[in-house]
Amino acid sequence: MKAFSPAEILKIREDFPILQRKVHGDRDLVYLDNAATSQKPLCVIEALNHYYRHSNANVHRGMHALAEEATADYEAARAKVAGFLGAPDPKGVVFTRGTTEAINLVAQSWGQKLQSGDEILISVMEHHSNIVPWQLLAQRTGAVVKAIPLTPTGELDLEAFDTLLGPKTRILALTQISNALGTVNPVKDLISKAKAHGTTVLIDGAQSAPHLPINISELGCDFFACSAHKMCGPTGIGALIASPELLESMPPWQGGGEMIDQVTLESSTWADLPYKFEAGTPNIGDAIGWASAIDYMQELGMERIEATLQALVNDAADRLDQEPGVTLTARPTERGGAVSFWLDGIHPHDVAQLVDQSGVAIRAGHVCCQPLMKHLGHPAINRASYHFYNTPEETGRLLEAIRIARKIFGIS
Ligand code: PMP
Repeated sequence: MKAFSPAEILKIREDFPILQRKVHGDRDLVYLDNAATSQKPLCVIEALNHYYRHSNANVHRGMHALAEEATADYEAARAKVAGFLGAPDPKGVVFTRGTTEAINLVAQSWGQKLQSGDEILISVMEHHSNIVPWQLLAQRTGAVVKAIPLTPTGELDLEAFDTLLGPKTRILALTQISNALGTVNPVKDLISKAKAHGTTVLIDGAQSAPHLPINISELGCDFFACSAHKMCGPTGIGALIASPELLESMPPWQGGGEMIDQVTLESSTWADLPYKFEAGTPNIGDAIGWASAIDYMQELGMERIEATLQALVNDAADRLDQEPGVTLTARPTERGGAVSFWLDGIHPHDVAQLVDQSGVAIRAGHVCCQPLMKHLGHPAINRASYHFYNTPEETGRLLEAIRIARKIFGIS
């Protein structure tokens, strides 16, 4: 599939008001922190505006025009997410605050069936959101968390995976794309191996849902978690996606309004799916904003978004690799949206601050992957992360900013 042409990218950039702004006086903003959160197109901003100006009401309980409109739009957003990600059924799309909350939901609800000695398999490259909920579950149940090690190129060690996937592995919880290294993991193969073993699989799609065409039914995982704010949508909304049968077998994890059928002072029964897992007034406006972001990305085409990002990020990795003083943290065969690196002799935090002075926004730190930092033997990295609206010229601006930083530090 063809990447967007430079002229098409220029046109796309007009949809993102924030990309036109300047920082530090007169510097054109170069936004390369998309793995943290993406920017939002006008249609999303306008969908939020329209909802609050026009239809704001609580969902599922009102008997008036606005409540009906808000409910219809909220449920249409659920169907949109299901369609976009190839979910088996909209009833299996549970709205959450994001990926983190979706994984916690699984750990707290599905996780109740784990027993002492059961194994939870993650990997060394996981985001803290796909580590800590499992550690909490292990503390509650006596289960054990094991991690797939990495190869020197920053990929999963597949031989070690085969050894670690044992009879006690109850769940495999893996990221599809590493937010820190940019590695795209061969999740389809790993899911089918795990399923053949009878292991439940959760895929952390925080970085993949924004970048690749996803079809959860084809992937074959049991749970898929993602966040709207990394895919051009608002913050505060995301989803856990699973089959209705699996969700049906799980107990509720939070109690309150919306998730009940009948309540007496002695006991309660639960609402149908997906409401059983959506206690309290949901994030209606942001679900509607997310639906608008999905429309926008679908119109551009996920295949073209993937091709554009691949070209951008491979070019960025090649050019950073050739730049004096730069060391890449990983060299995966397939890269998602991120390239991370170290600059010899300058702490990553100083690098980020110095390139920011040139208007270039990149990340520095452990990027929520402290176990990965331990594996790399460095407390921090720099990360440039891309979306389809970035350009190779912006990589040029990053390289120029890196040269200035090296000069300031007297390194040449
Ligand atoms: N997993 C990965 C791979 C991520 O990149 C992130 C966000 N950086 C998360 C999980 C957590 O997402 P959120 O903060 O939106 O819940």
